[in-house]
Amino acid sequence: MDHSMIDKLGRPLRDLRISVTDRCNFRCRYCMPAEIFDKDFKFLPKKEILSFEEITRLSTILAKRAGIQKLRITGGEPLMRHEVSRLIAMLNQIEEIDDIAMTTNGSLLPLHAKKLKEAGLKRVTISLDSLDDEKFRYINGRDVGVNKVLEGIEAAEDAGLGVKMNMVVKRGMNEDDILPMARYFKGTNVILRYIEYMDVGNANGWKLNHVVSKKEIFSMINEEMPIEPVNPNYTGEVANRFKFKENGHEIGIISSVTDAFCSTCSRARLSADGKLVTCLFASDGHDLRDVLRSGASDDEVAKHIQYIWENRDDQYSAERLKHTDKKQIKKIEMSHIGG
Ligand code: SAM
Ligand code: SF4
Ligand code: SF4
Repeated sequence: MDHSMIDKLGRPLRDLRISVTDRCNFRCRYCMPAEIFDKDFKFLPKKEILSFEEITRLSTILAKRAGIQKLRITGGEPLMRHEVSRLIAMLNQIEEIDDIAMTTNGSLLPLHAKKLKEAGLKRVTISLDSLDDEKFRYINGRDVGVNKVLEGIEAAEDAGLGVKMNMVVKRGMNEDDILPMARYFKGTNVILRYIEYMDVGNANGWKLNHVVSKKEIFSMINEEMPIEPVNPNYTGEVANRFKFKENGHEIGIISSVTDAFCSTCSRARLSADGKLVTCLFASDGHDLRDVLRSGASDDEVAKHIQYIWENRDDQYSAERLKHTDKKQIKKIEMSHIGG
Protein backbone atom coordinates (compact mmCIF):
# COMPACT_ATOMS: atom_id res chain seq x y z
CA MET A 1 0.00 0.00 0.00
CA ASP A 2 1.14 3.53 -0.71
CA HIS A 3 2.67 5.21 2.31
CA SER A 4 0.46 8.26 2.32
CA MET A 5 -3.26 8.81 2.43
CA ILE A 6 -4.50 11.93 0.66
CA ASP A 7 -7.99 13.38 1.06
CA LYS A 8 -10.26 14.95 -1.56
CA LEU A 9 -8.68 18.38 -1.06
CA GLY A 10 -5.13 17.04 -1.46
CA ARG A 11 -4.30 16.98 2.27
CA PRO A 12 -2.23 14.09 3.60
CA LEU A 13 -2.96 12.35 6.91
CA ARG A 14 0.00 13.33 9.09
CA ASP A 15 -0.89 13.42 12.75
CA LEU A 16 -3.28 11.79 15.14
CA ARG A 17 -4.89 13.05 18.35
CA ILE A 18 -5.99 10.29 20.63
CA SER A 19 -8.62 10.94 23.27
CA VAL A 20 -8.18 8.36 26.03
CA THR A 21 -11.18 9.28 28.17
CA ASP A 22 -14.32 11.43 28.01
CA ARG A 23 -14.09 12.16 31.76
CA CYS A 24 -12.51 15.17 33.39
CA ASN A 25 -11.83 16.45 36.91
CA PHE A 26 -12.68 20.01 35.70
CA ARG A 27 -15.95 21.45 34.43
CA CYS A 28 -14.68 24.34 32.31
CA ARG A 29 -17.69 26.43 31.48
CA TYR A 30 -16.87 26.61 27.77
CA CYS A 31 -16.20 22.87 27.43
CA MET A 32 -18.04 20.68 29.97
CA PRO A 33 -20.54 22.99 31.70
CA ALA A 34 -21.46 21.45 35.09
CA GLU A 35 -25.20 21.85 34.44
CA ILE A 36 -24.92 19.42 31.51
CA PHE A 37 -22.04 17.23 32.66
CA ASP A 38 -23.64 16.59 36.06
CA LYS A 39 -23.91 13.48 38.24
CA ASP A 40 -26.55 12.01 35.95
CA PHE A 41 -24.47 12.46 32.82
CA LYS A 42 -23.72 9.13 31.15
CA PHE A 43 -20.00 8.90 30.52
CA LEU A 44 -18.74 6.02 28.40
CA PRO A 45 -18.69 2.65 30.17
CA LYS A 46 -15.30 0.92 30.25
CA LYS A 47 -16.17 -1.73 27.68
CA GLU A 48 -16.92 0.94 25.09
CA ILE A 49 -13.52 2.57 25.51
CA LEU A 50 -10.59 1.40 23.41
CA SER A 51 -8.05 -0.62 25.37
CA PHE A 52 -4.37 0.38 25.32
CA GLU A 53 -3.74 -2.60 23.05
CA GLU A 54 -6.40 -1.41 20.59
CA ILE A 55 -5.05 2.16 20.59
CA THR A 56 -1.52 0.87 20.05
CA ARG A 57 -2.61 -1.37 17.21
CA LEU A 58 -4.39 1.47 15.43
CA SER A 59 -1.46 3.82 15.94
CA THR A 60 0.94 1.21 14.60
CA ILE A 61 -1.20 0.69 11.51
CA LEU A 62 -1.38 4.44 10.91
CA ALA A 63 2.35 4.88 11.49
CA LYS A 64 3.30 2.07 9.11
CA ARG A 65 0.64 2.57 6.44
CA ALA A 66 -0.12 6.29 6.49
CA GLY A 67 3.24 7.64 7.58
CA ILE A 68 1.96 9.22 10.81
CA GLN A 69 4.90 10.35 12.97
CA LYS A 70 3.23 12.51 15.62
CA LEU A 71 0.77 11.53 18.31
CA ARG A 72 -0.98 13.70 20.86
CA ILE A 73 -2.79 12.20 23.84
CA THR A 74 -5.79 14.16 25.06
CA GLY A 75 -9.26 13.73 26.62
CA GLY A 76 -11.39 14.76 28.59
CA GLU A 77 -8.49 14.86 30.99
CA PRO A 78 -5.96 12.25 29.83
CA LEU A 79 -4.40 11.92 33.30
CA MET A 80 -7.76 10.61 34.55
CA ARG A 81 -7.21 7.45 32.47
CA HIS A 82 -5.78 4.78 34.72
CA GLU A 83 -2.07 4.11 34.03
CA VAL A 84 -1.92 6.36 30.97
CA SER A 85 1.90 6.30 31.16
CA ARG A 86 1.73 2.58 30.32
CA LEU A 87 0.00 3.55 27.07
CA ILE A 88 2.73 6.11 26.34
CA ALA A 89 5.36 3.41 26.82
CA MET A 90 3.50 1.12 24.39
CA LEU A 91 3.18 3.88 21.76
CA ASN A 92 6.82 4.77 22.24
CA GLN A 93 7.75 1.31 20.96
CA ILE A 94 6.38 2.17 17.50
CA GLU A 95 9.49 2.80 15.45
CA GLU A 96 7.96 5.36 13.05
CA ILE A 97 6.57 7.59 15.84
CA ASP A 98 9.08 10.28 16.72
CA ASP A 99 6.97 12.64 18.81
CA ILE A 100 4.41 11.94 21.53
CA ALA A 101 2.79 14.91 23.28
CA MET A 102 -0.12 15.38 25.68
CA THR A 103 -2.69 18.11 26.27
CA THR A 104 -3.69 18.30 29.94
CA ASN A 105 -5.22 20.69 32.45
CA GLY A 106 -2.02 20.14 34.45
CA SER A 107 -3.63 19.59 37.85
CA LEU A 108 -2.47 15.98 38.13
CA LEU A 109 1.00 16.46 36.65
CA PRO A 110 2.77 16.57 40.03
CA LEU A 111 1.69 12.93 40.43
CA HIS A 112 2.48 11.78 36.89
CA ALA A 113 5.12 13.94 35.18
CA LYS A 114 8.12 11.76 36.01
CA LYS A 115 6.44 8.50 34.96
CA LEU A 116 5.24 10.09 31.73
CA LYS A 117 8.72 11.28 30.84
CA GLU A 118 10.22 7.88 31.62
CA ALA A 119 7.58 6.26 29.41
CA GLY A 120 8.68 8.40 26.44
CA LEU A 121 6.44 11.47 26.50
CA LYS A 122 8.31 14.45 25.04
CA ARG A 123 6.06 17.44 25.60
CA VAL A 124 2.96 18.64 27.38
CA THR A 125 0.58 21.44 26.51
CA ILE A 126 -1.03 22.68 29.69
CA SER A 127 -4.25 24.68 29.65
CA LEU A 128 -4.64 27.76 31.84
CA ASP A 129 -7.15 30.51 31.13
CA SER A 130 -6.36 32.99 33.91
CA LEU A 131 -3.78 33.75 36.58
CA ASP A 132 -6.46 35.37 38.71
CA ASP A 133 -7.20 32.71 41.32
CA GLU A 134 -10.81 33.59 41.91
CA LYS A 135 -11.60 33.77 38.22
CA PHE A 136 -9.78 30.52 37.43
CA ARG A 137 -11.71 28.72 40.19
CA TYR A 138 -14.92 29.98 38.57
CA ILE A 139 -13.90 29.06 35.00
CA ASN A 140 -12.85 25.49 35.80
CA GLY A 141 -16.11 24.91 37.65
CA ARG A 142 -14.40 22.75 40.30
CA ASP A 143 -12.84 25.44 42.49
CA VAL A 144 -9.29 24.40 41.58
CA GLY A 145 -6.75 27.15 42.33
CA VAL A 146 -4.16 28.54 39.88
CA ASN A 147 -1.41 27.14 42.11
CA LYS A 148 -2.37 23.59 41.24
CA VAL A 149 -1.64 24.28 37.57
CA LEU A 150 1.55 26.23 38.32
CA GLU A 151 2.73 23.22 40.36
CA GLY A 152 1.91 21.04 37.36
CA ILE A 153 4.06 23.23 35.11
CA GLU A 154 6.93 23.00 37.58
CA ALA A 155 6.60 19.22 37.85
CA ALA A 156 6.66 18.89 34.05
CA GLU A 157 9.74 21.08 33.74
CA ASP A 158 11.52 19.24 36.56
CA ALA A 159 10.80 15.95 34.79
CA GLY A 160 12.40 17.31 31.60
CA LEU A 161 9.20 17.61 29.55
CA GLY A 162 8.83 20.47 27.06
CA VAL A 163 5.99 22.77 28.16
CA LYS A 164 3.62 24.97 26.19
CA MET A 165 0.54 26.71 27.53
CA ASN A 166 -2.91 27.06 25.97
CA MET A 167 -5.23 29.90 26.94
CA VAL A 168 -8.70 29.96 25.41
CA VAL A 169 -9.88 33.56 25.16
CA LYS A 170 -13.59 34.20 25.48
CA ARG A 171 -15.02 37.70 25.50
CA GLY A 172 -16.67 38.49 28.82
CA MET A 173 -14.75 35.66 30.48
CA ASN A 174 -11.03 36.40 30.37
CA GLU A 175 -9.95 39.02 27.83
CA ASP A 176 -8.62 40.97 30.86
CA ASP A 177 -6.18 38.12 31.42
CA ILE A 178 -4.46 38.36 28.03
CA LEU A 179 -1.84 40.87 29.22
CA PRO A 180 -1.17 39.39 32.69
CA MET A 181 -0.56 35.99 31.04
CA ALA A 182 1.84 37.50 28.46
CA ARG A 183 3.72 39.39 31.17
CA TYR A 184 4.03 36.26 33.30
CA PHE A 185 5.18 33.79 30.63
CA LYS A 186 7.46 36.27 28.82
CA GLY A 187 10.07 35.75 31.50
CA THR A 188 9.89 31.93 31.55
CA ASN A 189 10.90 29.06 29.23
CA VAL A 190 7.25 28.35 28.52
CA ILE A 191 5.58 29.30 25.23
CA LEU A 192 2.06 30.66 25.68
CA ARG A 193 -0.51 30.32 22.90
CA TYR A 194 -3.84 32.12 22.88
CA ILE A 195 -6.69 30.22 21.25
CA GLU A 196 -9.71 31.90 19.69
CA TYR A 197 -12.83 30.50 21.31
CA MET A 198 -14.39 27.98 18.91
CA ASP A 199 -17.90 26.70 18.26
CA VAL A 200 -17.00 23.10 19.04
CA GLY A 201 -19.93 20.94 20.17
CA ASN A 202 -23.38 22.23 21.10
CA ALA A 203 -23.09 22.41 24.91
CA ASN A 204 -21.23 25.70 25.32
CA GLY A 205 -23.67 28.20 23.74
CA TRP A 206 -20.97 29.70 21.49
CA LYS A 207 -21.67 33.02 19.78
CA LEU A 208 -19.50 34.80 17.24
CA ASN A 209 -19.29 37.89 19.46
CA HIS A 210 -17.63 35.76 22.18
CA VAL A 211 -14.58 35.46 19.93
CA VAL A 212 -11.64 37.76 20.63
CA SER A 213 -9.81 37.80 17.31
CA LYS A 214 -6.15 37.17 16.65
CA LYS A 215 -5.91 40.76 15.46
CA GLU A 216 -7.28 42.10 18.73
CA ILE A 217 -5.04 39.85 20.84
CA PHE A 218 -2.01 40.84 18.77
CA SER A 219 -2.70 44.57 19.14
CA MET A 220 -3.23 44.37 22.89
CA ILE A 221 0.10 42.63 23.43
CA ASN A 222 2.03 44.57 20.82
CA GLU A 223 1.04 47.90 22.32
CA GLU A 224 2.57 47.09 25.69
CA MET A 225 5.22 44.49 24.77
CA PRO A 226 6.16 44.82 21.07
CA ILE A 227 6.18 41.48 19.22
CA GLU A 228 7.18 40.46 15.69
CA PRO A 229 6.33 37.41 13.54
CA VAL A 230 8.52 34.30 13.44
CA ASN A 231 8.55 32.06 10.35
CA PRO A 232 6.43 28.89 10.58
CA ASN A 233 8.31 25.71 11.63
CA TYR A 234 6.48 23.59 9.05
CA THR A 235 3.47 23.77 6.73
CA GLY A 236 0.22 23.11 8.49
CA GLU A 237 1.43 24.65 11.75
CA VAL A 238 -1.67 25.98 13.47
CA ALA A 239 -0.19 28.68 15.69
CA ASN A 240 0.85 32.06 14.33
CA ARG A 241 4.17 32.49 16.08
CA PHE A 242 5.63 35.77 17.35
CA LYS A 243 8.55 36.78 19.53
CA PHE A 244 8.95 39.58 22.02
CA LYS A 245 11.33 42.17 20.59
CA GLU A 246 12.69 42.70 24.08
CA ASN A 247 14.02 39.20 24.79
CA GLY A 248 13.17 36.99 21.78
CA HIS A 249 10.82 34.77 23.81
CA GLU A 250 8.11 33.15 21.72
CA ILE A 251 4.33 33.56 21.99
CA GLY A 252 1.59 32.29 19.65
CA ILE A 253 -2.00 32.88 18.58
CA ILE A 254 -4.22 30.13 17.18
CA SER A 255 -6.78 31.83 14.98
CA SER A 256 -9.09 28.93 14.27
CA VAL A 257 -12.07 31.24 13.77
CA THR A 258 -10.89 34.45 12.10
CA ASP A 259 -8.12 32.97 9.95
CA ALA A 260 -8.91 29.31 9.32
CA PHE A 261 -6.18 26.83 8.41
CA CYS A 262 -8.33 24.11 6.81
CA SER A 263 -6.34 24.09 3.57
CA THR A 264 -3.38 22.46 5.33
CA CYS A 265 -5.27 20.43 7.95
CA SER A 266 -3.71 16.98 8.09
CA ARG A 267 -5.00 15.89 11.46
CA ALA A 268 -7.26 13.02 12.41
CA ARG A 269 -8.80 12.48 15.82
CA LEU A 270 -9.61 9.24 17.57
CA SER A 271 -12.31 9.41 20.22
CA ALA A 272 -12.10 7.35 23.42
CA ASP A 273 -14.74 4.98 22.04
CA GLY A 274 -12.83 4.40 18.84
CA LYS A 275 -14.34 6.76 16.29
CA LEU A 276 -12.11 8.32 13.69
CA VAL A 277 -13.10 11.98 13.40
CA THR A 278 -11.89 13.83 10.32
CA CYS A 279 -12.79 17.36 11.50
CA LEU A 280 -13.12 19.02 14.91
CA PHE A 281 -16.59 20.15 13.86
CA ALA A 282 -17.88 16.86 12.45
CA SER A 283 -21.36 15.63 13.41
CA ASP A 284 -20.05 12.14 14.02
CA GLY A 285 -17.01 9.95 13.62
CA HIS A 286 -16.38 6.72 11.71
CA ASP A 287 -16.48 3.72 13.97
CA LEU A 288 -13.20 1.78 14.09
CA ARG A 289 -13.86 -0.11 17.32
CA ASP A 290 -16.23 -2.59 15.75
CA VAL A 291 -13.84 -3.04 12.85
CA LEU A 292 -10.99 -3.81 15.28
CA ARG A 293 -13.16 -6.10 17.39
CA SER A 294 -14.56 -7.95 14.36
CA GLY A 295 -11.25 -9.71 13.78
CA ALA A 296 -10.22 -7.61 10.76
CA SER A 297 -6.58 -7.91 9.68
CA ASP A 298 -4.20 -4.93 9.81
CA ASP A 299 -4.53 -4.68 6.05
CA GLU A 300 -8.32 -4.51 6.26
CA VAL A 301 -8.20 -1.88 9.01
CA ALA A 302 -5.72 0.19 6.96
CA LYS A 303 -7.92 -0.02 3.85
CA HIS A 304 -10.95 1.06 5.88
CA ILE A 305 -9.11 4.13 7.21
CA GLN A 306 -7.74 4.90 3.75
CA TYR A 307 -11.29 4.88 2.39
CA ILE A 308 -12.45 7.27 5.13
CA TRP A 309 -9.54 9.66 4.61
CA GLU A 310 -9.75 9.59 0.82
CA ASN A 311 -13.38 10.66 1.05
CA ARG A 312 -12.68 13.52 3.44
CA ASP A 313 -13.60 17.00 2.25
CA ASP A 314 -14.06 18.80 5.60
CA GLN A 315 -13.26 22.48 5.84
CA TYR A 316 -15.69 23.68 8.47
CA SER A 317 -13.72 26.69 9.67
CA ALA A 318 -13.13 28.00 6.17
CA GLU A 319 -16.90 27.88 5.65
CA ARG A 320 -17.96 28.71 9.23
CA LEU A 321 -19.75 31.94 8.51
CA LYS A 322 -22.05 30.11 6.12
CA HIS A 323 -23.10 27.81 9.00
CA THR A 324 -23.73 30.22 11.87
CA ASP A 325 -26.97 31.72 10.62
CA LYS A 326 -28.46 28.28 9.99
CA LYS A 327 -30.18 25.99 12.47
CA GLN A 328 -27.63 24.45 14.89
CA ILE A 329 -26.11 21.34 13.37
CA LYS A 330 -25.15 18.50 15.69
CA LYS A 331 -21.46 18.51 16.51
CA ILE A 332 -19.27 16.27 18.63
CA GLU A 333 -18.41 17.71 22.05
CA MET A 334 -14.81 18.87 22.69
CA SER A 335 -14.53 16.56 25.70
CA HIS A 336 -14.97 13.62 23.30
CA ILE A 337 -12.21 14.55 20.90
CA GLY A 338 -9.89 16.72 22.95
CA GLY A 339 -9.14 19.71 20.72
N1 SAM B 1 -8.41 18.43 29.54
C1 SAM B 1 -7.28 18.75 28.75
C2 SAM B 1 -7.03 20.24 28.75
O1 SAM B 1 -7.91 20.99 29.15
O2 SAM B 1 -5.93 20.62 28.33
C3 SAM B 1 -7.34 18.21 27.33
C4 SAM B 1 -8.66 18.29 26.61
S1 SAM B 1 -9.22 19.95 26.29
C5 SAM B 1 -10.75 19.63 25.44
C6 SAM B 1 -8.09 20.48 25.02
C7 SAM B 1 -7.97 21.96 24.79
O3 SAM B 1 -9.14 22.43 24.17
C8 SAM B 1 -7.78 22.80 26.05
O4 SAM B 1 -6.66 23.64 25.90
C9 SAM B 1 -9.06 23.60 26.10
O5 SAM B 1 -8.85 24.86 26.71
C10 SAM B 1 -9.42 23.72 24.63
N2 SAM B 1 -10.83 24.02 24.39
C11 SAM B 1 -11.92 23.44 24.93
N3 SAM B 1 -13.05 23.98 24.42
C12 SAM B 1 -12.67 24.93 23.54
C13 SAM B 1 -13.36 25.84 22.66
N4 SAM B 1 -14.69 25.88 22.60
N5 SAM B 1 -12.63 26.65 21.88
C14 SAM B 1 -11.28 26.62 21.90
N6 SAM B 1 -10.57 25.78 22.68
C15 SAM B 1 -11.25 24.95 23.49
FE1 SF4 C 1 -11.75 19.28 31.14
FE2 SF4 C 1 -10.00 20.21 29.41
FE3 SF4 C 1 -12.61 20.47 28.92
FE4 SF4 C 1 -11.53 21.90 30.87
S1 SF4 C 1 -11.04 22.04 28.70
S2 SF4 C 1 -13.44 20.69 31.01
S3 SF4 C 1 -9.97 20.55 31.62
S4 SF4 C 1 -11.51 18.58 29.01
FE1 SF4 D 1 -9.25 20.88 10.13
FE2 SF4 D 1 -11.90 20.87 10.38
FE3 SF4 D 1 -10.40 22.57 11.83
FE4 SF4 D 1 -10.68 22.93 9.17
S1 SF4 D 1 -12.30 23.05 10.71
S2 SF4 D 1 -8.78 23.06 10.37
S3 SF4 D 1 -10.76 20.79 8.47
S4 SF4 D 1 -10.40 20.32 11.97
